[in-house]
Amino acid sequence: MGERHRPGVTRIIADLGEGEGWVYRLRCTCPSLALDTHSKDQAQQDRRRHLEQVDIDPTERCRDTRHKVPAWDVCSLCGDQLPLFDL
Ligand SMILES: [Zn+2]
Ligand SMILES: [Zn+2]
Repeated sequence: MGERHRPGVTRIIADLGEGEGWVYRLRCTCPSLALDTHSKDQAQQDRRRHLEQVDIDPTERCRDTRHKVPAWDVCSLCGDQLPLFDL
């Protein structure tokens, strides 16, 4: 199975170089996304950009809109069923 992406933003107290204060911490379940910022917009932009850049193995991508799986996520239903016509 490929990597799942669940980026989330939390509010934490941190020091970004200007003393301690509230910051938006953006983290994903994958290790490639890590951002602390004072700007909520920045955090949400980066979250969106991260999901747009996610590259899923085509065999794990959802091929059925009824599963309601977003384009950036792997589908466990479709991922288990390799297309027979490829064999
Ligand atoms: Zn991710
Ligand atoms: Zn699916």
